[in-house]
Amino acid sequence: MPPSPPPRQPLRERLSAHLAVLRHSPRALRLVWQTSPGLTLVLALLTLLGGLLPAGVALVGQRIIDGVVAGAATGLAEDRVSALQWIAAEAGLVVLLAAVRRGLDLSTTLLRAQLGNTVNVLILRKALTLELPHFEDSEIYDQMTRARREASRRPLSLVTQSFGLVQNALSLASYAAILLDFSPWTVLVLALAALPSFLAEARFAGDAFRLFSWRSPEVRKQGYLEVVVAREDYAKEVKLLGVGPLLVDRYDAIFQGIYGEEARLARRAALWGFLLGLLGTGALYGAYAWIGWSAVIGAVTLGQMTLYLLVFKQGQGAFAAILKALGGIYEDNLYLSTLFGFLELPVDPPGGSATAGPDPGDGVRFHGVGFTYPGASTPALRGVDLHISPGQKLALVGHNGSGKTTLIKLLTRLYKPAEGHITLDGLDLQDWQEAALRRRIGVIFQDFVRYQLTVGENVGVGDVDHLDDGPRREKAAEQGMALPFIQALPDGMQTQLGRWFQDGRELSGGQWQKIALSRAFMRADADLLVFDEPTSAMDAEAEAEIFQRVKQLTAQQMAVLISHRFSTVRMADRIVVLDEGRIIEQGDHAGLMAADGTYARLFSLQAEGYR
Ligand code: ADP
Repeated sequence: MPPSPPPRQPLRERLSAHLAVLRHSPRALRLVWQTSPGLTLVLALLTLLGGLLPAGVALVGQRIIDGVVAGAATGLAEDRVSALQWIAAEAGLVVLLAAVRRGLDLSTTLLRAQLGNTVNVLILRKALTLELPHFEDSEIYDQMTRARREASRRPLSLVTQSFGLVQNALSLASYAAILLDFSPWTVLVLALAALPSFLAEARFAGDAFRLFSWRSPEVRKQGYLEVVVAREDYAKEVKLLGVGPLLVDRYDAIFQGIYGEEARLARRAALWGFLLGLLGTGALYGAYAWIGWSAVIGAVTLGQMTLYLLVFKQGQGAFAAILKALGGIYEDNLYLSTLFGFLELPVDPPGGSATAGPDPGDGVRFHGVGFTYPGASTPALRGVDLHISPGQKLALVGHNGSGKTTLIKLLTRLYKPAEGHITLDGLDLQDWQEAALRRRIGVIFQDFVRYQLTVGENVGVGDVDHLDDGPRREKAAEQGMALPFIQALPDGMQTQLGRWFQDGRELSGGQWQKIALSRAFMRADADLLVFDEPTSAMDAEAEAEIFQRVKQLTAQQMAVLISHRFSTVRMADRIVVLDEGRIIEQGDHAGLMAADGTYARLFSLQAEGYR
């Protein structure tokens, strides 16, 4: 059950917040302009025309009626023909107006498509600049989801609403000029009758936005449940565990939880809309009676009566449209605050600019490194001192949760140490240029990504600069021991993997791991290779063989390996044992066995199992 929505603020704060909200308008206009200056101009021009034409039509209407009345009264051919001419003129104006409205629709549609893409690309590019910790922060995730769900259509909506506002204001001004001729009071009645509706509109827009922000985490939960139920890679487990109905029930319960609030708001808005609308109808018929009476006593002609009535009615419409547009602009601004808030999210500029360290050949050093995950009470790593020299093969050993993966995330600069620092070639990792650092390090995580791309691309992504480099991919696949089964696939390197797309093939867990391993070998220039349990789905023999190969192939390179298989671990030059985030033992296999500590105990335990 979601918590109830936050309470409203006091009136004064609300008013200043309302005004502050409108500050996104210029930026939204700029965004639309940059997306397509041509279309924006066309839109502006048609808006102007669309604003002025209706009053013209109404004026011509008056001429027609007065012409007809005069023609009937005088019987002069001249008056009769003039009436017909005015009718032709009105027909012309109406056709022009129809063309303008179509043109407005068309340019809006085109602009909407372009702008949707522009905004989505902006959001995706921003997502690329986020650091790993951002993705683990649920608030930022919410913000991104909200921006993606709503914000892409809002800038255009804001612009069309603003243009609509101008258009209706023009119409209204022209109507008011006509009505002033009859009586300034009618103009006042027009304005007063529309105001309450507007205030209600603005208030409900604010409420709707609060509701939208409040339920955003719930909607995200729903999104997740949808993914679990609908995705192919979850289907197996969801089916066998029979967890599907439970998940769907939860999905439904979330909806029921938020529906109540939404329905209440919609009902209130409908009721107030009706009541305040009555005010407008009352005003219209009051004016009707007045203008009608004026015609009865002969103060205005029949044509004028029709003109005033039409103009009053249309003026009401224009007024309502203006106030609605103001409400809409306000609402769009609220949603845009999410988009611009997300786009402006401060991200640390990625590292420094150095492309080399002062001490090439120094390898990697950890100096008193400590790290605590945001929100965690105990550090995941503490006081880690470590030196990996060029060519050295290091294995990390420890229980689950002892900090092995965290150490690797720090080593690859996915996270920043909270204490101490890490150097490569004598230079702090934080001072390295992003691209230079990435070139030096090749990593495979245990939860590596199984891209639904071709086999070749799945290997190639290891070095995107050489994604389509055939010979290089082949060599990497050969080194990762993936080449034999790739060649046996129907289309070789071109075989589509995964089930999302037509003719996609699925690989076994071990085969996927060989693909991931080959990916690491794509980084031919990397001198630090990191393997976080990449071979857990292979049999012990294959893993040992692979690590033997890695050793031979990377004689000059540093390698850090996490494995739970001691048959592999023992081959490393140096073994580091972690426990609760600290290094408790290190040395080579023989040394650690002789020391008879944790490593020796764990090793014997596993060896026992094989006897
Ligand atoms: P290992 O790789 O040795 O199994 P990890 O480095 O993954 O261990 O985890 C070390 C500790 O940090 C564990 O207590 C784990 O619960 C915690 N931890 C790991 N990842 C995160 C994360 N993203 N957010 C918060 N805590 C985490």
